[in-house]
Amino acid sequence: MEKLEKVISQNRTTESKLSVIIPVYQEGSHIRNSIGVIEQVLIDHQLPYEFVLIDDGSKDDTWLELKQMAGENEHITSLRLSRNFGKESALCAGLEYAQGDMILVMDSDLQHPPQLIPEMVKAWREEGYDVVEGIKSSRGKENIIYKLCAKAFYYIIYKTSDINLGQASDFKLMDRKVLEAWKEMPERAIFFRGMSAWLGFDRKQISFEVADRVNGKTKWSLLRLMRLAINAITSYSSVPLHCITVLGILMFLGAIVLGVQTLYMYFSGQALSGFTTVILLQLIIGSSIMISLGMIGIYLTKIYKEVKGRPRYLISKCIRGGEKK
Ligand code: UDP
Ligand code: MG
Repeated sequence: MEKLEKVISQNRTTESKLSVIIPVYQEGSHIRNSIGVIEQVLIDHQLPYEFVLIDDGSKDDTWLELKQMAGENEHITSLRLSRNFGKESALCAGLEYAQGDMILVMDSDLQHPPQLIPEMVKAWREEGYDVVEGIKSSRGKENIIYKLCAKAFYYIIYKTSDINLGQASDFKLMDRKVLEAWKEMPERAIFFRGMSAWLGFDRKQISFEVADRVNGKTKWSLLRLMRLAINAITSYSSVPLHCITVLGILMFLGAIVLGVQTLYMYFSGQALSGFTTVILLQLIIGSSIMISLGMIGIYLTKIYKEVKGRPRYLISKCIRGGEKK
């Protein structure tokens, strides 16, 4: 608590340091260029800065590049995770490492326009906002199925947990105190966007056009996205579990009606018909039970993973700015 009070009372000046956190996975071909572009914007606007670049266990030459960059540039710290942990965990490593008064999270493929950074910093410094978030005004080039899935996913999250993530992105500037509050969240399964929305604080939104990827292609396969979606929904809401109860109640009501009808048929001596009903009922009840069990299973797995309490990521190498290694 004392630590938190200390950070709350800090001043916001032109001397305040900006930490730029960038998770990097298989981007060896263009990472140097991307960081160069971002750095130029920071230099042009005379912002004191540091970069924390996290190699999320890439198999190409990404780490070689990050290592060299950290060796040449004292503003860059490069971390390497022991394997591919996924973007959320890589982000987490960077966030725990950041030293700045304000922390900026962005992608390494220049899809988040660096030109917006000065405006975000200004909103933090002069208007007093604690979180300045980039909002996608369009979703860039994505195919129609992907767009529909994304829409459905955000709709479910909004309906089940009341958190509107529709246009949210991971392009976000936050104050040190927001980061400290975020660090207090102990869960193992991280969904950064949702966690950040849950935190609250004074927020400002700045919209931006998602640029085309500079090089390479997106790392998100449909399966990975579905995993993220299920993780996100079950992390923020227990509504799916309540749906099971509601389903049970509805079926019980149906059972009463059918029960009365069956008894009537029996006592009036016409009991033999109704075979179709029996089959249909078996199918419906069977599948509902299986879906319900699956749903409970998902939550059970989540609890199991949390209880195990394994670290969110493992760092295998770390090179601080200017260190030659
Ligand atoms: N990324 C990562 N680990 C992964 C996948 C992606 O650190 O397992 C990084 C990637 O290098 C990039 C950011 O996350 O900086 C966004 O990835 P990508 O551009 O593939 O996603 P999209 O922009 O298509 O959502
Ligand atoms: Mg991208």
